[in-house]
Amino acid sequence: MSQPIETTQFKGIDENFCTECGKIIKIKAEICPMCGVRQKNSEGVNKTALLLLTFFLGGFGAHKFYLGKNWQGFFYLLFCWTWIPGLIALIEFIIYAFTSTEVLQEKYTVKGGAGVIIAVVAGGFGMIALIGILAAIAIPQFVTYKNRAYMVATESELQMLATAEENYFQQYGQYSSDAQAMNFIQTNPEITIEIISADTTCYQAVGTHNQLQDPIVIDCNSY
Ligand SMILES: [Zn+2]
Repeated sequence: MSQPIETTQFKGIDENFCTECGKIIKIKAEICPMCGVRQKNSEGVNKTALLLLTFFLGGFGAHKFYLGKNWQGFFYLLFCWTWIPGLIALIEFIIYAFTSTEVLQEKYTVKGGAGVIIAVVAGGFGMIALIGILAAIAIPQFVTYKNRAYMVATESELQMLATAEENYFQQYGQYSSDAQAMNFIQTNPEITIEIISADTTCYQAVGTHNQLQDPIVIDCNSY
C-alpha cells in the first residue's frame, strides 16, 4: 500500500513533489531526476513578461535579470546612461517578439516570480540612477540658462539708462546722476540701477540683479 499523502510528512522545506511522478525532489530541480519531466514550478519564460521587461526596462538589463543572466544585466545597468543597452534591448525586443514561446522556453528557463521581481527592482534602480545623472547634468545647465536671462535683462535696463544719458548729454552737454531728470524709468523690480558718477566727460553705472552675484558695470563707452 503506497499512499502519496503519507509522504507529505517527510517532504523537507527545500523539497517538492514531482509534478509528473509525485516523487520527492529538490525545489530547485528543473527536471525530475526520477522521470525526467520538466517541473512546472521552474517555469519556462513567460513571453509577455519578457517582452514587457525588455521594452520598458530593457535599457537597465531587466530582461537579462529575468532570464537569470545577471552579469549581462549588471553591464546593461552599468552602461544604461550611454543609451547603448537601450538600443540593444530594443533589438532584443524585436527578436523576442518574433520568436515563438516554445523556442523561447526551450532556450531560457527562469525562476518563477523571483526573476520578475529582481528584474523590476534592478530596472527601477537603474531608472532612478539615470534620472539622477540626467538631473546632475540638466540642473547646472538650467541655472546657467537662467543666469544668462538675468544678465540679459540687466544689460537691457542698463542699455536704456545709457540711451537716457546720451540724450541728456545732447541737451545739456553733461551726463546726469539724476534718473528722474533724464526721464529714465526703471521697470524691472528685480534689478537695481545705480549711477555711480556723472560729469561732463563720462558717467558710470552699476546694474545689479537680485538673482545674480556679480553686478554689471557700464560707462559712457559701453554702448
Ligand atoms: Zn518525476
